[in-house]
Amino acid sequence: MTEARTNLFGLPRQQMEAFFAELGEKPFRARQIMQWLYRQGVDDFSAMTDLSKSLRSRLADIAELHVPEIIVEQRSSDDTRKWMLGMDGAQGIETVFIPETARGTLCISSQVGCVLDCSFCSTAQQGFNRNLSTAEIIGQVWLANRELGYRPDGDRIVTNVVFMGMGEPLANYRNVVPALDILTDDFGFGLSRRRVTLSTSGLVPMLERLGEDCNVALAVSLHAPDNALRNQLVPINRKHPIEELLDACWHYADEVYGRFITFEYVMLDGVNDSPAQARDLARLMRGRPGKVNLIPFNPFPGTHYRRSPVAAIEKFREVLLQAGVRATIRKTRGDDIDAACGQLAGRVNDRTRVRLGKKMIQIAVNPS
Ligand code: SAH
Repeated sequence: MTEARTNLFGLPRQQMEAFFAELGEKPFRARQIMQWLYRQGVDDFSAMTDLSKSLRSRLADIAELHVPEIIVEQRSSDDTRKWMLGMDGAQGIETVFIPETARGTLCISSQVGCVLDCSFCSTAQQGFNRNLSTAEIIGQVWLANRELGYRPDGDRIVTNVVFMGMGEPLANYRNVVPALDILTDDFGFGLSRRRVTLSTSGLVPMLERLGEDCNVALAVSLHAPDNALRNQLVPINRKHPIEELLDACWHYADEVYGRFITFEYVMLDGVNDSPAQARDLARLMRGRPGKVNLIPFNPFPGTHYRRSPVAAIEKFREVLLQAGVRATIRKTRGDDIDAACGQLAGRVNDRTRVRLGKKMIQIAVNPS
């Protein structure tokens, strides 16, 4: 019987060292191979020229280097790019790259679908399929780097990674924490912990655990200043209400991260966007290490919510600022390709570019 090969993508450094120890190799082999994978973007053992030929051929026998496959690529008029990666046949997950002047942010998924059922999010409509493995999570970053290429000075174009794609990262804790490790490891992607942001809807026990296992930047999807409304918008609030969530957040900010936490607040017309609600929100934030990021709601088919008018969003921000609370308005990017926040749905339903082998072609998928 042949044993399953170990996928070396997705092994954090300690596990990679253990893998080489079992082969009777020195721990520095782990660092060498991680540099090939994550720094050089090489996914072929035979190209790893500082490993002996015999080790390379042994690795090819017992290990593999496997990341998901890109099945659809879309490019927005604002240069945002979205890739759909194939998962188990009909399913897909989406990864979005958002270029800005001084940085390039990659928005990655942590699950196929989501269990949380937030009423304003299109991912919720597809239900939950499964957790992504660590290799599938960091594979998104690896693929984006490959697709985008490197800058002429050798720097990478993806400078920031946010877990704001499909899924709830803290509900896939077991695979997300090793991914955070690889993203921030000097021999992995080498990103500063401030450039890696985990976004959560508020799984409080897991948030408390996160503080013990890592210290990346944190974003929390708050969306409402009181429990009655948050229960409707983010149903996990019924289990972990705002007070409990905020206690865990302030602890994380003070004891773990040492900096401000971002609170995401989706602006829904007539639902959570009144000046009175802004004042309530300011009361929760005042004097605390929290800043608010207002996200104009991005509509999707079947939703009954509407985006707040610009004037209401600006007024809301003004109330927060006047109360001494830091607040910004998120610029909506990529909405012409359904790549904006909350629009990721993992459906192959567009006339778009599809990758077949190495060629990109224009086809109609499920034309309606
Ligand atoms: N489950 C995690 C990460 C995914 S969502 C979380 O809840 O934080 C990333 C952000 O996009 C969250 O703040 C989410 O609430 C927001 N979002 C979801 N649907 C949206 C929509 N339709 N328009 C704008 N933002 C949305």
